[in-house]
Amino acid sequence: MERKKEGFMGSRENRNRTRTTVKKEGNKEQRNEIKRNTRMPRKPREPMAKRENAPRKEDSIFKKNKLKIIPLGGLQEVGKNITVFEYENDIILVDCGVSFPEDDMLGIDLVIPDFTYLVKNKDRIRGLVITHGHEDHIGSIPYFLKQVNVPIYATKLTVGLIKNKLEEHRLTKQTKMHTVKQGDTVELGKFKIEFIKSCHSIPDAVALAIHTPVGVIVHTGDFKIDYTPINDDTMDFGRLAELGNQGVLALMSDSTNAERKGYTMSERTVGEVFDKLFINCKKRIVVATFASNVYRIQQIVNSAVANNRKIAVSGRSMVNMIETAMELGYIDVPKNVFIDIDMIGNYTDEQLVIITTGSQGEPMSALTRMATGEHKKVHISANDLVIISATPIPGNEKFVAKVIDDLMKIGAEVVYSSLADIHVSRTCLSRRAKVDASFSKTKIFYSSTWRISSFNCT
Ligand SMILES: [Zn+2]
Repeated sequence: MERKKEGFMGSRENRNRTRTTVKKEGNKEQRNEIKRNTRMPRKPREPMAKRENAPRKEDSIFKKNKLKIIPLGGLQEVGKNITVFEYENDIILVDCGVSFPEDDMLGIDLVIPDFTYLVKNKDRIRGLVITHGHEDHIGSIPYFLKQVNVPIYATKLTVGLIKNKLEEHRLTKQTKMHTVKQGDTVELGKFKIEFIKSCHSIPDAVALAIHTPVGVIVHTGDFKIDYTPINDDTMDFGRLAELGNQGVLALMSDSTNAERKGYTMSERTVGEVFDKLFINCKKRIVVATFASNVYRIQQIVNSAVANNRKIAVSGRSMVNMIETAMELGYIDVPKNVFIDIDMIGNYTDEQLVIITTGSQGEPMSALTRMATGEHKKVHISANDLVIISATPIPGNEKFVAKVIDDLMKIGAEVVYSSLADIHVSRTCLSRRAKVDASFSKTKIFYSSTWRISSFNCT
């Protein structure tokens, strides 16, 4: 800016000086002579090649338009992911999720992002792009669409899950849904969005390369590096490496558990653990997991089928997810394996698996109701093996602990902690037995949690 100002001031001074001189001195001829003499010397023309390389006006560092990246949620918090990308008159959004209420939010069911900025700029929004079908990425879509109607771009399973929500909120007719494939590129205003195959606990997840006039942003979405995933859904490392080599302007990456060292175990390993738990088990098996963890559900199905068990499902979100995933071909199951929950009375414990919601100890979830004896259809007894196949999301540990305690009070066998760690917790059990042996003369063992005091170590 300074240089420009100096130049402008300089030429103006020259012009003024010329004008005052002309007024004071001589006739028209003389004035022309003076004008000629006072004219600034012409700058020599630059050679053509050099001029072509010179920055055009719109490329000038002073004039360049800015790309704005505005996270309206999901940064330094768990859940309600939504990011605004803005360039000139165009806005695109990535994800639109919910988060769940904290302890002090009494009477609140869901937490949604603040859409004020988007409502104010609604005419500039070209589309909403979704990375995958988890609630913290799609849960707020109906609430957003009620204020701003924008087209949505997502892969097949994600579209299926969003459609369930739109039906529930009667928004199906007015919403434009676009199904994209991993590898596709979509142009929205000045943005080109490339959908890159990713790997996560739900199928059809994508990372995004957002091509903008000022550079490429790589937005990873949530991901898990798994070299032996279920359905061979490996991440497109090739494309990501290619983008990396070309150089990107910014990398926006998922950071959940990033501080932990080492690698996450492959989802396949979890399947092996299920097999070990299911084989020779004489009890009824109840498995709680995230409704959206389709791969995990597939592995429960596989173990159930291998051990001739029927599967009943409890919890509305679990029923919806399994129905949608089966319909779209994301769960592979022989006929007549799934049964209605009302039919469980027709089978022995040994013939049954119940897949349920509530792995996070959510107060109204099916597993919590089972644990407190409030579930109308499933009554937990000492003949139940309850597997909680999910790690508590930070903040939910207390709820999960309460559910485990309640289940153990009833006498159920509970396998908790993340399934990948079950070997570890089994080791703990044997270690715990040694401790008990050294206190064999103590009649009452007291501990602050039921989990320790109710272990049967004999
Ligand atoms: Zn996710």
